[in-house]
Amino acid sequence: MFAFDGTVLIEDEFLRDGLQNEKRLFSLEEKLGFLAQLEAAGVKRIQIGSFVHPKWVPQMANTDELFTCLKPREGVTYTALVLNGAGLERALAVGAKHLSISVSASETHSQKNTNRSVDGGRAKIKPVIEKALSEGILVRAGIQSALGCGFEGHIDPDRVSDIARDFAAMGVQEINIADSAGLSNPRAVYELCRRLRDETPANVALSLHLHDTRGLGIANFVAGLQAGVRIFDAAVGGLGGCPFIPKATGNVATEDVAFVCEEMGIETGINWQMLREPVERAEALLKRKLPGRMSHMPPPPWAQHSEDK
Ligand code: MG
Repeated sequence: MFAFDGTVLIEDEFLRDGLQNEKRLFSLEEKLGFLAQLEAAGVKRIQIGSFVHPKWVPQMANTDELFTCLKPREGVTYTALVLNGAGLERALAVGAKHLSISVSASETHSQKNTNRSVDGGRAKIKPVIEKALSEGILVRAGIQSALGCGFEGHIDPDRVSDIARDFAAMGVQEINIADSAGLSNPRAVYELCRRLRDETPANVALSLHLHDTRGLGIANFVAGLQAGVRIFDAAVGGLGGCPFIPKATGNVATEDVAFVCEEMGIETGINWQMLREPVERAEALLKRKLPGRMSHMPPPPWAQHSEDK
């Protein structure tokens, strides 16, 4: 029997992981337009950008402005990615209340992303997390490349476990396990998530960040569900990648994850059929088809009228 209780929270990262690799720069107005469409469809947590240096990721340069311009909707959490103390200062200045602060578990990825070793990155991020927590920010501490690295291959689960236990001891609210390059498989996802669940306090939530590079995104998602994970990252249209990871493709598509949940009777609060509009808009602006499935498919016969719900 498929064991399941509770609901699933999907964090949409179209505006961050989705857009960060795109050459076409998206204006503040365009981003606000996508934000409104995600909110209307019922997305409850939205990663709207990252506080990284605009020289490295120009697409994220208007993250500060986006935070100050958005009109928060009740029940929606707006979050962003922070990789260092300078980023945290910018996040605090615009009143962010929830942040992802992350390190990489891969030496090569860490060097390419931040010019630091894994241990160097961990030492550098600790005071950033402590400062954020002391300012009342809800912190999601992330472990990038936790399930494999495009440069190094396998990542030792002992190292991931060590980082996760360290994060838990700092008092973070959530630990995010990222398959940044989309290299994992359902068994590896299940085993790592079960292990981290056993090794971290129950009041620290676990979340999964999955990429669909080899078509295993939804299978990995279900494996995460079975391991007890209830928070997942996704991006509308499956847009995205990582500028520093060769050929990493997008996150699992939000509409696909919301669809599979609906089909399994699991509540996400998202009307996936309402995500067709942002996908169509993104495709028009980017002049290409996005990889997500359900925005290009008719609903199954028993869900034809779900937009009337
Ligand atoms: Mg990613």
